[in-house]
This record gives sequence, structure tokens and C-alpha cells, in this order.
Amino acid sequence: MYDYLIVGAGLYGSVFAYEAKQRGKKCLIIDKRHHIGGNIYTEEIEGINVHKYGAHIFHTNNKRIWDYVNRFAEFNRYTNSPVANYKGELYNLPFNMNTFNKLWGVISPAEAMQKIEEQRNAAGITDPKNLEEQAISLVGTDIYEKLIKGYTEKQWGRPAKELPAFIIKRLPVRFTYDNNYFNDRYQGIPIGGYTGIIEKMLEDIDIRLNVDFFEDRDELTKIAKKVVYTGMIDQYFDYKFGVLKYRSLQFETKVLDDTDNHQGNAVVNYTDRETPYTRVIEHKHFEFGTQDKTIITEEYPSEWEPGEEPYYPINDDINNDMFKKYKELADGEPNVIFGGRLANYKYYDMHQVIGAALVTVEKEFGE
Ligand code: FAD
Repeated sequence: MYDYLIVGAGLYGSVFAYEAKQRGKKCLIIDKRHHIGGNIYTEEIEGINVHKYGAHIFHTNNKRIWDYVNRFAEFNRYTNSPVANYKGELYNLPFNMNTFNKLWGVISPAEAMQKIEEQRNAAGITDPKNLEEQAISLVGTDIYEKLIKGYTEKQWGRPAKELPAFIIKRLPVRFTYDNNYFNDRYQGIPIGGYTGIIEKMLEDIDIRLNVDFFEDRDELTKIAKKVVYTGMIDQYFDYKFGVLKYRSLQFETKVLDDTDNHQGNAVVNYTDRETPYTRVIEHKHFEFGTQDKTIITEEYPSEWEPGEEPYYPINDDINNDMFKKYKELADGEPNVIFGGRLANYKYYDMHQVIGAALVTVEKEFGE
């Protein structure tokens, strides 16, 4: 008999399992995948840690979370500075003075501000009706056309004119020569990959892989006093209010034997509409690798169908309302804790998942 059955060996389930173990509780953690780690899983190939479910950069402003995660790994000084490739023209991201200098030849922040202001005024949009109008009203036409339009259309699989304005609430522009994507105080990549973090968290905890909770739900529920469920909330309730929608991604990973440095940066975004992928990740650069070969992954956004990996929740009104109904049921479910990105139908960064799991731990153990 276990105290907790934890469904999902991702970051949320693993933090919970680790903390429960520290408090003398007996846990069984299961996952339907063949590996632990959920979406932060990294696999070593040719000596390179490959981020199997997309590039993952740890960042946080919260010292407590940073100290916490550093207990499980040493982090390097990696700073996320993606580059945008628009039809062979390269621009620094996030939008900053380097980007503006390359776009317009401007040197001073005042010139850059003026350029953006001119373009916003020329567009004359006061009440943006769709994503295109929203983006132009925020940053003007040049940045929109070269760096936002194609990328966003590929991401969502629809023309920007048909996408709702709310998808882009803010578009951060920075009037300094600073290519650091995040504003957070702490960021980095765990040396040796993310899987090592989860391995440490799950030390001495019973793990069963390739086990889908729904294939043996009754038996599995019986072997523990409580369940921590980190899978899809609609599936838990047999989709009784409908299927929550997601966007998905396909990854194409290639080992390149003929070069040790393919693109000179970990992340390159392809911002034109024609290139079918949105990003190319060159994994070795996350850890300043010096291997003879290199490994790249092309990221293709795709429609989500039940059975595929659900990556990004579509938090529009219809889906949010449906989620609320599931949440009400979840709140009334005895002896089950719902947590993590799939049970909350929410895009969470890693630091937020750790924070949410620690809050649950405090509540659960009355601290
Ligand atoms: P998951 O990792 O999804 O874990 C849930 C686990 O439950 C999975 O392993 C799944 O197989 C298992 N499961 C589900 N249903 C069942 C079932 N029925 N039976 C058994 N097991 C089941 N965050 C950052 O901070 N920085 C980044 O740079 C970043 N980049 C990202 C890039 C991409 C492409 C994506 C998709 C996410 C990114 N994230 C990033 C977010 C990060 O991946 C999440 O915060 C984190 O992985 C969520 O952990 P989780 O435990 O909630 O969910």
C-alpha cells in the first residue's frame, strides 16, 4: 500500500514525490511514456544532451525556486539569445537596439523609438480587431512583417488577420543593446541535462514506466491512499464536457556528421511564412559543447488531434469555460490532487511548475 500514487513523472509529479518522500511517505510514480521527466526529458546522443520535447531554458526571478532547483543540478551560465532568420537576414531577439540597428541603421534609442512611433502612427490603428492590427499598433509594420507575421501564422496555422488580438497582449521592445531574452535574475541550463534532476528527485521512489493510468485505473487507485494526477483533466472525467483543445509540435532531429557547428547559436527562429518549421535548435550550444558532431532539431507546429502530444493549451473563451467545469469536478474529487500543466490546462514554465508543486506540498502536509 502506498500513501500516494503519482500519475505522471514530469516535473510536477517528481517535485511532489520528492517532497512526500522527505516526509516519510511512500510513493509510486507511473508514466505512460518510456522515460521519466515528462516534457523536460533530455537524452544523451553522441555525447550531446538533446532536449527531446523542445528547447528548455530554466529561468526565474524567485530565489527560493532557483536555490531549490540547484539542489538537484549545477547550472551553467547559458543566456537565451535567440536569433531570427528572415529570408537569410539575421536579427537579434528579443526586439532590442541590435535588432533596430540592423532593420533601420539607427544608432540611438531615441531614433529607434521615433521609427517605431512613426510606423505606429502611419498605420493609424486605434482599436485592433485581430492579431495583425494588434501587433502593428504595438511595434509598427517592419518588425511585424519581418519578425512576427510568418512565425505567428506558422505557430497557429492561420493567417494573422484571422487570429484574435488577445493572443498578443504585449510585445516587449528593449531600447538597450541587450540580447538576453529573459528579464529574470537567474537563468541557465543544468549541466548534463534535465533528466538528471528528475533522477535525483525520484531516487528510492518506486517508478513504473509505460503504464497508462486509464488502462488500469481501478486497480491503480486502490493501491494508494491518495492520487496526484498530472495528466489531462478532461480525460480524467471521460471528456464529459467535451475535449479541451491544444496546439501540437512535431520534432525532426538530425545528427550532422559533416560539421561540428551548424548555426552558431542554440536557437534560431525562422520568421518567414515559407520555411515550414518555426525554429531550429542546435543542442550542443546549450552546454557550450565541443563534440565533433552536432545535433539539430527542426520544430514544426501542428494541429492537435486526440492521441498526439498536447503542448500548448488554446486558452480561448470556449476552452477556458469548459476547463472551469472540469475544475469544479476536480475540486470535489475526494483524495485526488490535480496538478501540473495538463491538469490545470495552463502553459506553465518550469519555475512555475516547481512553485505550484511546492504550494501543494505545503497545503497537503499542513505547513
Ligand atoms: P509534463 O512534463 O507534461 O508531465 C506530465 C507527465 O504525465 C508526462 O510525462 C505524461 O506522459 C504523463 N501522463 C499523462 N497522462 C498520463 C496517464 N494517463 N498515465 C500515465 N502518465 C500520464 N519551460 C521553461 O521554464 N523554459 C522553457 O524554455 C520551456 N520551453 C518549453 C518548450 C516547449 C516546446 C514546451 C511544450 C514547453 C516548454 N516549457 C518551458 C514548459 C515545461 O515543459 C513545463 O513547465 C513542464 O514540463 C511541465 O511539467 P508537468 O509535470 O506539469 O507536465
